[in-house]
Amino acid sequence: MHYLMGRWWRKVKRHKLSLRHRGKIPAARRKNRKVMTKDRFEAVLWDMDGVIADTGHYHLMGWHEVFGRRGLKYSDDDFRRNFGKRNDAIIRSVVGEGIALEEVEAIAVEKEIVFRRKAAGNLRLFPGVMELINSLKEYGVKIALASSAPIENIQLVTRTMGLDGSFEVIVWGREVTEGKPSPQGFLLAARRLSVEPRNCVVIEDSVAGVTAAKRAGMKCLAVTNTNPRERLVEADSVVDTLEKVKVADLAGLFNFPPEREKPSS
Ligand SMILES: [Mg+2]
Repeated sequence: MHYLMGRWWRKVKRHKLSLRHRGKIPAARRKNRKVMTKDRFEAVLWDMDGVIADTGHYHLMGWHEVFGRRGLKYSDDDFRRNFGKRNDAIIRSVVGEGIALEEVEAIAVEKEIVFRRKAAGNLRLFPGVMELINSLKEYGVKIALASSAPIENIQLVTRTMGLDGSFEVIVWGREVTEGKPSPQGFLLAARRLSVEPRNCVVIEDSVAGVTAAKRAGMKCLAVTNTNPRERLVEADSVVDTLEKVKVADLAGLFNFPPEREKPSS
């Protein structure tokens, strides 16, 4: 009997609550509640190396120098395959999994010092980056930088490229325990922006980065700055340059089923 009373009372309480709830929500919104929970375009998460700044050549120089000092080879192919991954993963893939953590750290620090020395004063933005960032700001779209790079590299790029203060949120390599293709970095950026992952677009150039974006449940626009189109097919859309990408193209990723038209490239 007590059990039945309990059920009855819970039912009444639930009904009262739902009435109170209904009173607070306008009828039109209630009717469209299902529509309102659909994905919508709220934020863009930018990768840095190979998307914002043309840094590839200086990273390659850095790796050649530090691996060369240790008698190890690092081919252009190794470089392309590893681009976008965090340093610890790259170092282990070249030196071997048995390498001590301190040695990984030492090589990474050395490499980034060489990178910044070579890159300082020589960096350039990829075409269309500044224009797209400015348009996104005009439309009130939130923007974050989510990079596997050390914070010193991010500071070098943002300060020298006139991007200081452009990003509401910056997530860098060591803030997460796993680098791309793990989705951790993108998920942390979305959380800091207070945006649902499914309402974010990631802009990436690397295979690991595209995988990370999709694992995070985000839309992904890939740009063929460092990888050919056929390696980036996991992305929702692939373009050859950001020059012609408009805010409407990114919003369009949310309005069409998977077989939608691609933004113009
Ligand atoms: Mg990249």
